[in-house]
Amino acid sequence: MTAQGGDILAWLETAITAREEAARSVGYDQIEAVDYLWGTKHLLLRRGVGVKASTELDAALADHIALRDPSSVLRRCAADRKLLDLHGGRGHGCPAHDYDGDLDEFARFYNHETCPVVQHLADSYGWTAGQTPPAEGDHVT
Ligand SMILES: [Zn+2]
Repeated sequence: MTAQGGDILAWLETAITAREEAARSVGYDQIEAVDYLWGTKHLLLRRGVGVKASTELDAALADHIALRDPSSVLRRCAADRKLLDLHGGRGHGCPAHDYDGDLDEFARFYNHETCPVVQHLADSYGWTAGQTPPAEGDHVT
């Protein structure tokens, strides 16, 4: 593993925060896709007890949006923060592939090292090796 430690953790923090802010700015808590006419769907946008229906959408697009509604994004961000608490920025042991590709049941990572869990989390947010943390105001995808 490379010693990107602080950089990748800072980048992940910015990426997770950007997703949380985007999810909260939607203005709805939950989005559900419901069948409509001729293979289409529309979305039910829920905030508290209020519900608003969207216009007709392609069924696949509606399902995609509903699977990434604000509440699910916030749950995912919370889970990712818990993983970072366990694996990021501190010495610890966790399973990892060794240099031969075998899975070691316990590999030791020091404070300055990035374990595979953090690397995979960063990959899922769009991190590429050697990337620098975004400056404030950058759009993280
Ligand atoms: Zn780890």
